[in-house]
Parts: sequence; C-alpha cells; structure tokens
Amino acid sequence: MNRILALTGALLLTATATAQVFDETTLEVAGELREQALGSELGYEITADLTTRIGNRLAGSENDARAVAWAVEMLEGLGFDRVWTEPVTFPYWVRETERVAIVAPVEQDLVATALGFSPATPAEGLEAEVVMFDDLAALDAAPDASVTGKIVFIRNRMERARDGSGYGPAVQARTGGSLVAARKGAAAIVIRSIGTSTNRFAHTGVMRFTAGSRYVPAAAISNPDADQLERLIALGEPVRMRVTIDASINQTYTSQNVIAQLDGATNPDSIVALGAHLDSWDVGTGALDDAAGVGIVTAAAQLIAGREQRPDRSIQVILFAAEEIGLWGGRAWAEAHGDEVARYLVASESDFGAGPIYEMTAKVADDAMPVIEAIQAELAPLGIAMGERGGGAGPDFSPMMAKGLAAVRLRQDGTNYFDYHHTENDTLDKVDPEAMKQNIAAFAVFAWLAANSPVEFGSGPGLVD
Ligand SMILES: [Zn+2]
Repeated sequence: MNRILALTGALLLTATATAQVFDETTLEVAGELREQALGSELGYEITADLTTRIGNRLAGSENDARAVAWAVEMLEGLGFDRVWTEPVTFPYWVRETERVAIVAPVEQDLVATALGFSPATPAEGLEAEVVMFDDLAALDAAPDASVTGKIVFIRNRMERARDGSGYGPAVQARTGGSLVAARKGAAAIVIRSIGTSTNRFAHTGVMRFTAGSRYVPAAAISNPDADQLERLIALGEPVRMRVTIDASINQTYTSQNVIAQLDGATNPDSIVALGAHLDSWDVGTGALDDAAGVGIVTAAAQLIAGREQRPDRSIQVILFAAEEIGLWGGRAWAEAHGDEVARYLVASESDFGAGPIYEMTAKVADDAMPVIEAIQAELAPLGIAMGERGGGAGPDFSPMMAKGLAAVRLRQDGTNYFDYHHTENDTLDKVDPEAMKQNIAAFAVFAWLAANSPVEFGSGPGLVD
C-alpha cells in the first residue's frame, strides 16, 4: 500500500512538475507547431534551393559570396524582424587537381581527393615507396628512418555507428597525419577515407593547419582503393606511388555569418540560438553537410515567426561561415559575442545530415532541468527520448561553449551519414524529406518552448568545463 502510494505520489509529482513549467496555451502552440512542421515542405525547399542555385560553397570561393547573398535574401523573405551579417576572416584553400597512382609493382590509378590545406606537390608529382601504418599513433611511434622520403599510408577504418562515434578516433589520421609525416621527413601522406561507404568516392576534409609549421601534401583515397592498396602491400613487393596535387593556400578572405532574429515579446534581450553552417566542401553540393541543417533550423524558426503569438524571448537563426575549414564562423561569433554569453539562453545546431532525431541531450544548469524534461515530453511524440546530461550544441557553438554557453543537441541518426560526408556523393537525393520534417518539428518545438522558459539555462562561467 505504502509503495503504491509512493509510486502514485511520484507520478503525480512528475506530472505536476511538467504542468508547472509551461502554461496550457504555450503547450498547445507547441503541439500545433509540431503538426504544422510535419506537413510543411519549406525546409526541403530551402535545402533544394541552396544546393541547386549555389551548389557547393567552399569557404573563400566565389560561391561563398553567392551563398551569403542567397541566405540574406532568403531570410529577409521569411518574416524575421531583422537580418544582418557579421564578418568572418580566415585563410583559405583552393583545390585545382589531384592524382594518386600506384606505379609499381603494377600501374593503377586510385580515386583520390586532396585534403583541405594540403600544399601542392611539384608539377610532375612526388614518387616514392609506400610505408603503411595502422593509425596516427603508429606513425607517430615509428622511427624517423622508416618514414623519411617515403609516402605514408594510414589505413585506419571508420566504424559505422548511429551516433557517429566512429568518426572521432578515425579522423585523427586526417587532421594530424600531414604534420606528423612532415616531422618524420615523409614525402607525402595518403589516408584511407574517413567514411563508411564502400563506394568509390574519396572523402575530403580539413587537415590541421597552422602557419609556420611544415606539412606534406596529403590526400585521401576511396575505401575500395585503400583495400586494394593494402592487398598489394600484403603481396610483399615494394609498392611505389605517385602523388600529384595542385592546390594553393591563400592569405585572407572575409565572409559573413548570416543572422536572422525573431524578437521576443517580453524578454527580447534573451536569445535562443539555432545554428547551421552555410559553407560546404567543394565536392558534391553539400546537401547533407549542411544545406539540410540550414533548411531545418530556418524552417523551424519561420514556423514560429509565422504565428501571431510571439515567444517571450528572441530566437536567432545563425548560418555560420567557414565551418569546414576550421570553425572560423563559430570562432568569430564567440569572439564578437563572448562578453554577452549570458544573453544566450541556449544554443543548438543542426549539422549531422537529415536523419531522424532520436534523442535530446542538454548541458544546462540544474535549475533548468525541469524545463528540459518538459520540452522532451513534447518531443516524445516525435520518437525523441531523453539522452544523458551534458554534450555539446554542435561544432559552430563549441567556441562559445568554452565561454559557458548552455547547449542542447537534438541527436540525429547518423548511421548512413558518413557514407556521403565530404564526397562528390553528398547531393540532394540523399536528403529524406520526411525525416527532415521530423527534424523541423523537433527544432520548432524546442525553440518555441525554450524561448518561453520561465528560468535561465545557466549560460555563463558556471557552465565552463
Ligand atoms: Zn558540417
């Protein structure tokens, strides 16, 4: 009897706590937004328009400027109160051509892509014997004499996982490989693509780049080509390769973060920030990465902008510049707004393709947890569970998180994301319009409720790790 009473009491307490956070009208609007989003084509249309009209959008390219102009015009047409840009300055990289070929014991061309910020080789290419390593740590531990003058091949494989957790360990070879290979006197480095596809597409991506350090030319080869190279090496004869890359690293370019705001009714100085990045790699059309995110957060905010009733707090859509080549937009934003971190109630970015969202994580103050739980209750009909406490807000918000920004992540199913990530195959047909609607519904419900939160989420020094 006591146990039943206690259980009933606990259930009542939970129900009461949830009911107390938001009033009935606010919850009704959340439910309407959810339904509206599931019936709206706007997010997909935005994604289609960006990838069709502009195509790929490498930071510093002509299409970068075109994408900024496109974003300003698109946001101005959607009923936000204000749209503006903020400058982001960065060094940039231009790809011309790349060719990776095995020249001995047999001649074979491999499908390859130069890594972002790879220096050029001499015009005739660099030819040398290949030395293979399991991963970056193995290269780092190898005696210099075994590497000097050779072409390093790192073969680590990315594991497929719903949460994308295979990416972090594997990507070390891409980000750090060129620097370590250079330190050991290698001629060049070739890596197995950081991706899960068995298709013959190579996955590009940035390598860590600091002016003043020495780097060697770097490329990724497709996964089937990496398998082939491994088999050839296993035959025991020395394998020789030629790497030819034409690319340039350029001084500075100024792009823009593009920001749209919907003013809050009673507390407009407090802001819920929704992010995505406008730039992409120069391969494919950057549909999953991250035109889909642009469509998701813009459509979610637009649904709220289209209602008569305003949320208490303001909502911003921030389309970041130059994410792919080093989080330049996110870093510039944190620098410009770091002093006012407490004004940002919470932030969340969509930058993981267009797969369905399965859970919500939150890094917020204890006081805000009832609000987070109440938001999750409204996301539950979309199949979104409560994840563990903590986590980030997405890559572009990470520099501001270092200053204490509160974070929510609506985690997407990324099982197939890394089949297309940073490849020629990242095109609009990979975006599932139905899954996108679920994402937009989740962002709209989250943004609406967060912007009506009765309490702060704790942004400030207290949330710095
Ligand atoms: Zn991205």
